[in-house]
Amino acid sequence: MAELEGLEFGKSDFVLLDEVTMEQFMENLKLRFEKGRIYTFIGEVVVSVNPYKQMDIYGKDAIDAYRGRELYENPPHLYAVADAAYKAMKRRAKDTCIVISGESGAGKTEASKYIMQYIAAITNPSQRAEVESVKNVLLKSNCVLEAFGNAKTNRNDNSSRFGKYMDINFNFNGDPTGGHINNYLLEKSRVIQQQEGERNFHSFYQLLRGGSDELMGSLHLQNDPTHYVYTRQGAAVSTASTDDRACHKAVMAALKVIGFTQEEIGSIYKILGTILHLGNLEFTTDGENVQLASEDCIRHIADLTATEYENVKKTLLFRTVATGGGEVIDKGHSENEATYGRDAFAKALYERLFAWIVSRINNVIEVKNYNPALHGKNTVIGVLDIYGFEIFDNNSFEQFCINYCNEKLQQLFIELILRQEQEEYEREGITWQHIDYFNNQIIVDLVEQPHKGIISILDEACLTVGKVTDTVCLESMNNKLGQHPHYTSRKLCPTDKTMEFHRDFRIRHYAGDVTYSVEGFLDKNKDPLFQDFKRLMYNSADPVLKEMWPDGKLSITEVTKRPLTAATLFKNSIIALVDRLACKEPYYVRCIKPNEVKSPMLFDDARCQHQVAYLGLLENVRVRRAGFAYRQPYARFLQRYKMTCEYTWPNHLMASDREAVEAIVVQHGFEGDVAYGHTKLFVRTPRSLFTLEQERAALI
Ligand code: ADP
Ligand code: MG
Repeated sequence: MAELEGLEFGKSDFVLLDEVTMEQFMENLKLRFEKGRIYTFIGEVVVSVNPYKQMDIYGKDAIDAYRGRELYENPPHLYAVADAAYKAMKRRAKDTCIVISGESGAGKTEASKYIMQYIAAITNPSQRAEVESVKNVLLKSNCVLEAFGNAKTNRNDNSSRFGKYMDINFNFNGDPTGGHINNYLLEKSRVIQQQEGERNFHSFYQLLRGGSDELMGSLHLQNDPTHYVYTRQGAAVSTASTDDRACHKAVMAALKVIGFTQEEIGSIYKILGTILHLGNLEFTTDGENVQLASEDCIRHIADLTATEYENVKKTLLFRTVATGGGEVIDKGHSENEATYGRDAFAKALYERLFAWIVSRINNVIEVKNYNPALHGKNTVIGVLDIYGFEIFDNNSFEQFCINYCNEKLQQLFIELILRQEQEEYEREGITWQHIDYFNNQIIVDLVEQPHKGIISILDEACLTVGKVTDTVCLESMNNKLGQHPHYTSRKLCPTDKTMEFHRDFRIRHYAGDVTYSVEGFLDKNKDPLFQDFKRLMYNSADPVLKEMWPDGKLSITEVTKRPLTAATLFKNSIIALVDRLACKEPYYVRCIKPNEVKSPMLFDDARCQHQVAYLGLLENVRVRRAGFAYRQPYARFLQRYKMTCEYTWPNHLMASDREAVEAIVVQHGFEGDVAYGHTKLFVRTPRSLFTLEQERAALI
């Protein structure tokens, strides 16, 4: 509980609400937002509301105020959580993690940057060069990842289109020695398609606006994003808040600092160029054969990918298929197939480029030559900045994956928060009481259970030879899961005779009901790319490109094993993520977006309430209060409240602080509301504390 703020700013910890109701929660959240208090605790969790304006709360003064202090000594702040995670890591040699969640535009990525900056600021006081260089690379990697993984969307001008988990390693001194980044589910469909008002990834515009004449000449590109199909579909080639040209310079510089070679940087830009040329490739057909409308693009692509002109052309127009008799033939594409192949290739190029950049950064920041015998235990702080729950008007495969991920994280949250509480009670010798809460394991199972879950059913449909359509797959899901309490199959619609089936299903998520349109599910899950493209890239003379396509080595007759589907790959990566987080001590930041119009003034009650509900914040307060809402070491409690009791003011004469605290409790008559731990006083309801606070306020 933060104590330095007056009550005119509302309650700085939601556990202090008189009653845990949505009404009271919202009232407090709104009051604080309007008073410019964007952070509020729930115990050790920080709830953050995006201020949409620069706040003067992150400077050196603030860093000094939070450094090394206890959580309740200062007003709620990201720094308080960052410091708590850092202290636990350093003092108790615990691996910790900070999980930041919330919907797009809620402020997750900004929060993760402030947290990183805080950690950078409080470490390496002796300015050792090798530590400074690690910190520099960690901070610079953000700039590169944002360029390639972020885009302007209608919700956020700088929206992360991937999930990110970063481990920072520390030596026994508590100084960073390296790190590791994992990325999740890059939204690669954006490479070929953007909604009205949105853009492709920043990297394209930065190149097109900032690339020097020499670079652009070598890439056969014009300095104009409207010239390229892949960059102009959203009809929003500029954003008000970013300067693409300046960013291009910064990214170039960051790549160099991180340690990318000139050749590697060259290859990155060649891949971006290739993608832009691919997008401008047009096919024509004379009814039978597909042709290229213009061959210039092919020439550029062959040049940029260091491949043969004829091979590029053939790969775009034909595919190799193995016949039943083991023969290999070239089969011409239909116009649709050619377009589909081109787009799939462009998406795959970008996805692999992004994955390669991440792995290249990881090579640089990987902890090398660490000898625990010599250097002590190597500890870790993980920072997770990942997409929150998404409920759109039209929800597809991507939302399904993202929402599944959030179910997993919620499951972990409940488990860990409860476990933490339980452990503290045990440590303090207090009897543990069971807390009733909604366990969402049942929804997690609905999605991920082998053989029975939605992902298994999807995969099965993808493996079935022949024409299995999305609708057939949906029927199969309806048959198998129709009875599940969290799944609703949508049957025939009696009022609309034209519509045979609803092509959607509904999951009752812990955060609310989401209806998914099944259209495109199978294709997105299978995510096919003709082997010919992979082989083309594997045979490139550009070593960087070749490295990205090891699976191109196989010829068509050797490709037998079916690659894992997108949903299964995602599921595996999320299970691995949860395992990584589960063995760490967690800290949470829950971000809320106050309105849809990026306004610093507007608190949209309905929108905020919706987020509070699906982030499970009330549940969180209940869990926190179900046992003891408030706890404090005896000495601190005494220091704060000793003036409210004649036996303890100005100093007590009792045998221990604990007895003195008992005297205060008895004098105020809330003996029934507390438990005495080995080192701390535990108070069940906040009301008792309010009495004390009021009395204290009247006395000082
Ligand atoms: P998310 O990662 O959750 O999608 P961002 O962190 O990118 O959201 O935040 C979206 C925008 O909101 C930022 O570009 C910035 O303009 C604003 N914003 C977020 N957090 C803050 C903050 N703490 N102070 C000032 N502006 C912020
Ligand atoms: Mg983000």
